[in-house]
Amino acid sequence: MRHRIAVVGSGPAGLTFARVLHRHGHPVTVLERDPARDARPPGGTLDLHEGLGQLALDKAGLLAEFQALSRPEGQTMRILDADGTVLRDWRPRPDDRANPEIDRGQLRDLLLGPLDVQWGRGVTQVVPGTPDGVLVHFADGRQETFDLVVGADGAWSRIRPAVSSVTPHYTGVTLVETSLDDVDTRHPDLARLIGDGSVAVYGVNRALVAQRNSGGHVKVYAQFRAPLDWHTNLDLADVEAVRSSLLALFDGWAAPVLDLLRHGTVFVHRPLYVLPVSHTWTHVFGVTLLGDAAHLMPPLGAGANLAMLEGAELAESIANGPEDLDEAVRACEEQMWARAGRWAKITTAGLERLVSPDPAEALALFDQVQPS
Ligand SMILES: Cc1cc2nc3c(=O)[nH]c(=O)nc-3n(C[C@H](O)[C@H](O)[C@H](O)COP(=O)(O)OP(=O)(O)OC[C@H]3O[C@@H](n4cnc5c(N)ncnc54)[C@H](O)[C@@H]3O)c2cc1C
Repeated sequence: MRHRIAVVGSGPAGLTFARVLHRHGHPVTVLERDPARDARPPGGTLDLHEGLGQLALDKAGLLAEFQALSRPEGQTMRILDADGTVLRDWRPRPDDRANPEIDRGQLRDLLLGPLDVQWGRGVTQVVPGTPDGVLVHFADGRQETFDLVVGADGAWSRIRPAVSSVTPHYTGVTLVETSLDDVDTRHPDLARLIGDGSVAVYGVNRALVAQRNSGGHVKVYAQFRAPLDWHTNLDLADVEAVRSSLLALFDGWAAPVLDLLRHGTVFVHRPLYVLPVSHTWTHVFGVTLLGDAAHLMPPLGAGANLAMLEGAELAESIANGPEDLDEAVRACEEQMWARAGRWAKITTAGLERLVSPDPAEALALFDQVQPS
């Protein structure tokens, strides 16, 4: 018997889940709030780890295509202090494929492939346990029922309340993201500073990280400890006002480093929220969560990787596993909670050290993770 399965959200979790089910010939309905594939900028670059995101792509039959698209040289990492002194200059070996980078847009297109996403279908609520299954309410007032609804709808999940009353809380760290285009021709000095991968500069309770994406595009993340209302007297839509405020916040840092902010175009405000470490719930028949909806954690290179692997594992469990759909879901939830709990601890501790009163902590963490 074919179960009626819906996944809410077409991020890394939802698309990997749907793509692996599709590979096994199992129909799945993908419901996405965005009105179209390119409705908003897809975001920066992601590093996909060998045993996590890459394993998920293998399960989707997409590893070779990923290897052709990804940038192993993007693993390059340079660390400076606020004076601009280079403290570490790490390059991967030529054959190192442990954590290559890929643009989010490229990953999305790779996963989308033959999938038929229903765009513009924002879900407002799900109600488990109705006589015909799990009832899904849409923003346009329509309703549909399924045997299983998978919430892969990110940090502010509308599916989560069906299984858990927990909501994300602020970490005390805010990111403001900006971008540089065509960096090799327009800003060659910055292009040299950033190199093939990333440059990170750590100061007291703040950091600046710049990451090269494909096509000469660079994403810059200003990170700082601040109360949630730090911008009360600032119009976040006013590019020049945000730029000046960031330059004041990083006052005294080396000029070439501050150029990353001076030349930034649009500024996007991203206060960092997380779910409690080791978030679990009492299993609910017909509903589950994947990715950020289940375990939002600091953005230290794990979230998309976990989301993809969980999606792939749940899809395989449904396609190859027990006849009982609920049993397949339960087994994956246990596995997801254990692994995500470990990563939530690592990334929470990591954020404390990367944006810390003592910049030496950030360097020590780098040396632990990436011994030379
Ligand atoms: C600056 C930054 C850098 C990061 N870098 C990395 C990295 O290098 N490596 C890594 O592994 N992780 C990284 N992460 C974390 C990663 O982005 C997330 O963990 C990952 O995107 C989670 O995937 P997801 O599919 O669970 O959710 P999302 O990517 O948030 O996707 C959710 C989808 O659901 C849709 N949606 C939301 N609500 C609804 C609704 N009500 N109805 C229908 N659709 C809905 C959204 O439009 C979206 O398409 C980073 C995060 C940030 C902020």
